Amino acid sequence: MPAEFSPRARAAFQRRLLTWFRTHRRELPWRASRDPYRVWVAEIMLQQTRLAAVLPYYHRFLKQFPDVHSLAASREEQVLRLWSGLGYYSRARNLRRAANEVVAKHTGEFPRSFDAALALPGIGTYTAAAVLSIAYGLPHAVLDGNVARVIARLYAVRGDLREPRRWKQLARIADEILVARAAGDWNQALMELGETVCTPFAPRCEVCPVSRLCTAYARGLTSKIPAPRRKRAPVKIRIAAAILRDPTGRVLLVRDPGAHDDVLFSRMWQFPAVEVAQDAEADLRAHLANDLNLDFSKVVLTPLAAARHGVTFRNITLLPFLADVARLPKIPRSKILPLADLRRVPVSSATRKIAAAVSDFASRKPLARPKPPHGC
Ligand code: SF4
Repeated sequence: MPAEFSPRARAAFQRRLLTWFRTHRRELPWRASRDPYRVWVAEIMLQQTRLAAVLPYYHRFLKQFPDVHSLAASREEQVLRLWSGLGYYSRARNLRRAANEVVAKHTGEFPRSFDAALALPGIGTYTAAAVLSIAYGLPHAVLDGNVARVIARLYAVRGDLREPRRWKQLARIADEILVARAAGDWNQALMELGETVCTPFAPRCEVCPVSRLCTAYARGLTSKIPAPRRKRAPVKIRIAAAILRDPTGRVLLVRDPGAHDDVLFSRMWQFPAVEVAQDAEADLRAHLANDLNLDFSKVVLTPLAAARHGVTFRNITLLPFLADVARLPKIPRSKILPLADLRRVPVSSATRKIAAAVSDFASRKPLARPKPPHGC
């Protein structure tokens, strides 16, 4: 759709897309009502996370925290436990902090002013526009990766869409084409088109409701727009972790300071771990002794199966070691619990993978040889 698109053609485009959305929209749990709290939780969970992954978390979260008051009254640990495995845990921390502010400063109602919404922890321009338009019908246009791609193809905007000048251009177009009287449906229609039809690779132009108005389609540019982003070079990281286990099957979890950045274990409960510089076992022993003041020099560290873990540009190899000890040490900022109870505390998926290596090891361990019959 070129910039010189006539008002009549633009109206046709808006009508087609809205009609398509209202006929084909997916039934999603937060679409059943316009409750700002439900829309808000959904938008936060969907940031950088696939819909299929979000759905079970969303249902569990809403069951535990059905409204902003229950979330505001929660403990951070409860929220993180429900979020465990979904990743990007600052979202959960901010969501809870923002719920506190909504209760304390806005009498429990998500603010209707764009600036007040933006002032809440974890709310950026996209989330503010999404919640205000979907829940309250306020005329704010959203712009996220899906919407940017759709607009870029419609208008044949070339180059890196995240480049600030280009992003501003796309935001201006998003504002221009917004259907103010149906802002919520309009924004969701653009998002839905980007998620289900105008996908990053192989867009389904043949079923697209606005293909007749799409410049990239008309010019055969759909595979060239948007231009591929320059990816950050992958970084390889090895992390050695110690599962210290006592004879009753309990393990030690810590809030391990300084072993690695926040990304991997997300400042949640984890096994003692260290980034490997040279030798995994030697580095782990040094970490236990020097940073956690634990003397396990005489304890055998049994290497378990390594696990792969990816976080953005980091290619991480997790190297778990099992150490069976007579007694677990009591140290500050630590927790001792049965390994099977790990799901009851907030942990990252990296910690779950490390724990899984123990179960895997136990199931593969050769059975004890049967004793020979007496007399042999
Ligand atoms: Fe996207 Fe193709 Fe539709 Fe254009 S015609 S908006 S490229 S799906």
